[in-house]
Amino acid sequence: MAMSAPHAVPAHHAAARGSTSFRPILVAGERCKGCGLCIDVCQPGALALDASHVNAMGHRPALLVHPDACTSCAKCARMCPDAAISVFARPKEA
Ligand code: SF4
Ligand code: SF4
Repeated sequence: MAMSAPHAVPAHHAAARGSTSFRPILVAGERCKGCGLCIDVCQPGALALDASHVNAMGHRPALLVHPDACTSCAKCARMCPDAAISVFARPKEA
């Protein structure tokens, strides 16, 4: 059962600030079943299955491999049947 609905989180959220390498999405890897639906829907090709990690359920979770290509469109989060992806708004340029 999904634990929460996909949602966009404001840029001032703790997980989205304070880093020089902003990561626009966060995958809850332990909830991911490696179905690849998020990868298929990501037009910029920013996602891939993690070839170096298997989670407790025995799946290779989705991973943001090209953070600079991500547009924070949230299509991946809306597509994920397990609500495993959170999307963060990009900080505004100064
Ligand atoms: S938010 Fe959009 S561009 Fe970024 S990983 Fe998800 S589908 Fe791809
Ligand atoms: S759609 Fe969800 S469950 Fe499927 S690979 Fe992507 S993050 Fe994992």
